[in-house]
Amino acid sequence: MSMTSRYCPDPRFAALGDAYSDPVEPAEFPKAELRWWNDRWAQEVGLDGLDTAERAKHLHRFEPLPDNQAEPRAIRYHGHQFRTYNPQIGDGRGFLFGQLRDSHDRLLDLGTKGSGQTPYSRSGDGRLTLKGAVREVLASEMLEALGVYTSKTFAIYETGEPLHRGDEPSPTRSAVMTRLQHSHLRFGVFQRHAYFDRADLVGELVEYAIDQLVPEAAQAEGDRAAALLDAVSQRSARLAAQWMAAGFVHGVLNTDNLVVTGESFDYGPWRFLPHFEPGFTAAYFDEQGLYAYARQPESVFWALQQLAGALSLVGEQDSLIAALEAYPGHYKREIVKAFHHRLGLTPKGDDGDGALVSTLLNASRELEIPFEAIFFDWFCGEPSQARALASDRRELYRDEAFAPVQALLLERESVRPERLQNAYFDKDAPVHMTIERMEASWAPIAEADDWSVLEQTLADVAQARAAYDLGRDRIGFLSE
Ligand code: AMP
Ligand code: MG
Repeated sequence: MSMTSRYCPDPRFAALGDAYSDPVEPAEFPKAELRWWNDRWAQEVGLDGLDTAERAKHLHRFEPLPDNQAEPRAIRYHGHQFRTYNPQIGDGRGFLFGQLRDSHDRLLDLGTKGSGQTPYSRSGDGRLTLKGAVREVLASEMLEALGVYTSKTFAIYETGEPLHRGDEPSPTRSAVMTRLQHSHLRFGVFQRHAYFDRADLVGELVEYAIDQLVPEAAQAEGDRAAALLDAVSQRSARLAAQWMAAGFVHGVLNTDNLVVTGESFDYGPWRFLPHFEPGFTAAYFDEQGLYAYARQPESVFWALQQLAGALSLVGEQDSLIAALEAYPGHYKREIVKAFHHRLGLTPKGDDGDGALVSTLLNASRELEIPFEAIFFDWFCGEPSQARALASDRRELYRDEAFAPVQALLLERESVRPERLQNAYFDKDAPVHMTIERMEASWAPIAEADDWSVLEQTLADVAQARAAYDLGRDRIGFLSE
């Protein structure tokens, strides 16, 4: 048995032709040690029936899946990195491997990271460190548990090559990773074809995006590029709000790390906030704090403006500007929704001003309340009050600086409070994927090849996911 009946190959991107990607050869690796396999998502796409040999064949050696894309293809893209345009980039250590339909008939990409050099590798080795792969799975699993629309880490193989990196003790171990996400259509893909003045290619991408990825844009009347930009602005505003409510700092919000589907992906130097701190920055190389926690919504807006520039080759200027101008309003709505969703509460009619969001953030900052603990301790509001006030954080919650937050939490209605029956809420503290927890999960692997701590961390995250039950549907995209 290999593919199940769920398996539905649909290699649409390659069908667009050779202008958008280059066929590439996967690297040959000396070792194939499976370190992570996402069985939940394998079931979703009909790959749960693969046996050990078949998994290695497709997700380590990258031999094409049946009736799928004929060969791996490195996608062509450019992008603004820290606001400077870079025409040298593209899929430099990854490729699109195949495309499938999920159970909602939506297209999903299987993309790789660390699978070898491509025409876009520049001086890079095309490889991924094992620690980098572990960081990807920790970020994607945690974000999924917190209700963020994220890529799913599908498989990780350790590949047995010694790598040299400036930011890890070297030589360090290597891995190849496959991720599943609805699209790898980065803003930078549009930018590249606009840079070469190929309005025809940009126009064709707009149609592909609307037909295959962002169906809500098909309903709009008038200019197609502006309809796409409007839908992408809404999705991106929602994503920025979800990151804020997750206390997540992506770290590198370059235009090549944002996609038209509004999914979060590419987890390099990410961090979760210890407690609210607007200037908290993830990447050590982000000296100016450009992509600090509280600047993420604005960074996404800046990237959308670059996308609009690329779309202006085929779209009407006034409609594109109107689509951009709607972003701040979308974000204002989404931030209220995202925080209430995570708290298990219904927004009140007067929540347009985001009172709960701002008072909660201020209290977290002033009292240094662990960010994740607030959501865990006060999940669903009133039914959690006694538990919160008996928790290890009780002194913080009794502080007068917390009083306005408590008042707002208690006056809101709970959503599905039966979720509190999950044993997760009997724990003293929630899983909080701070840098300390991440390093503690990695250290035993580095020191003694002991994977048990990482496995425990991932089991705790899975329990949180089941307890919060924040996915609107199994795909993770909030459709209402
Ligand atoms: P990132 O910062 O991971 O989003 O990557 C930015 C660009 O650098 C992309 O074009 C990557 O493909 C490329 N890149 C990053 N690391 C490597 C590497 N080790 N080898 C080749 N290309 C790389
Ligand atoms: Mg990237």
